[in-house]
Amino acid sequence: MGTEGLGNYDVAIVGAGPAGARAAYVLARRGARVTIFDPSHPREKPCGGGVTGRALALVDDAIDPSSFARTTIRAARFTNAGSERTRPTNDRIDARQRRRPGPFGPGDAGSCVDLDGGALIVASRSTFDAALLAAAERAGAMVERARVTDVAADTGGVTLETAGGRRRADFVIGADGANSLVRRRVASAFRRSQLSIATGFFARGVTSDEIVVELTADPPGYIWSFPRPDHLAIGICAQADACVTAEALRARTAAWISATGIARGARLQPYSWPIPSLSVRDFEDPALAGPRWALVGDAAGLVDPITREGIYFGLASGNWIGAALGTRHGAREYAARVRDEAIAELVRAARLKAGFFRPVFVSLLLRALEQSAAIRAVMADLVSGRQRYATLKWRLIKTFEVGLAWRALTA
Ligand SMILES: Cc1cc2nc3c(=O)[nH]c(=O)nc-3n(C[C@H](O)[C@H](O)[C@H](O)COP(=O)(O)OP(=O)(O)OC[C@H]3O[C@@H](n4cnc5c(N)ncnc54)[C@H](O)[C@@H]3O)c2cc1C
Repeated sequence: MGTEGLGNYDVAIVGAGPAGARAAYVLARRGARVTIFDPSHPREKPCGGGVTGRALALVDDAIDPSSFARTTIRAARFTNAGSERTRPTNDRIDARQRRRPGPFGPGDAGSCVDLDGGALIVASRSTFDAALLAAAERAGAMVERARVTDVAADTGGVTLETAGGRRRADFVIGADGANSLVRRRVASAFRRSQLSIATGFFARGVTSDEIVVELTADPPGYIWSFPRPDHLAIGICAQADACVTAEALRARTAAWISATGIARGARLQPYSWPIPSLSVRDFEDPALAGPRWALVGDAAGLVDPITREGIYFGLASGNWIGAALGTRHGAREYAARVRDEAIAELVRAARLKAGFFRPVFVSLLLRALEQSAAIRAVMADLVSGRQRYATLKWRLIKTFEVGLAWRALTA
């Protein structure tokens, strides 16, 4: 992280999600005059709320997870939409798997992967984001609870029109999410083909200590249930230009909830929200930074196209812009770091995406999960963010069946 002082440097940050709050924290610590604009807090964001161990590690200087309500996830259960409710009838299923009853009743366990306490927490975004924002304020950032309605950069700085009046700054950071206004002003909005629609329900009044992931071939992706302390966040997502509407996806999620009984007795509160899901090609020329602006988190499209994990990349890009600003070629350095440390990884995910949810691969993977401790260890590391796509290939290829499938997937 850069150490130069940033006194008298005015930075406006639009959006107080993880990316904006983290950038604010780092810049304020370096002495910049930081103002974050966001009218929404305290707010719940439609999200699973899964925060991986690697994401928490990025902010352990600023927030203590024990200070906010969260669920420590003990296991991840994988089921297959293509199978008949994934009954573990195979004789070779190991004893530990038998011990864990599934959410779908006896004899319906799916494939269960144990997680250590540092792998994954799930929290409401109202509490997680509030903790990050409070840390930024403690570091000296100011929060203006106003919507930004326009942004224009010129050679001397940036002008922001806000619900509270006109503001000037030296630099603007667009941390305003998938529908980013800053992005629309300095580059262009995401096209429909660059977005996923995520939709589902918060199921109030039920919880658990395991996540459930049902892999689906059509649309390619998964249905998830992520338990927060007093409710489940359940959802599904599909590429926005796929021939499926948000209503149809939500109906599918409702049918899953009802078939599995996973949220029996819960009050269901619907939500929908876009997630950037870029292709290999989109990542070739991403809009990241210019002389007076930078985009971070969802506004920059930094989301894993397979898992849709975006909190880690939001926090990481907040750190990177925080470190780069104030150096001679700060914006350029930031863009280079995003390319090296995030986009290289996201491109690998985008390449694998088409094959990852193919029924033949999913069936093999789930069978291997039941039978192989090595595959379960790989999946545990994937869920916690410890397994990079760059080395995933070698770990899987060492296992016979999945190794074969992997060769087919990447051929
Ligand atoms: C249904 C769903 C499930 C998901 N599940 C997970 C998960 O389990 N784990 C994970 O890692 N990722 C998940 N994601 C992705 C994750 O939610 C995002 O990647 C993450 O929130 C990005 O953080 P951000 O700070 O870039 O943007 P956001 O969190 O979207 O924050 C943007 C902020 O900008 C503010 N804003 C917008 N416009 C303006 C404006 N004009 N003026 C002022 N403020 C403005 C908004 O109020 C908001 O507070 C999920 C996404 C969805 C939709």
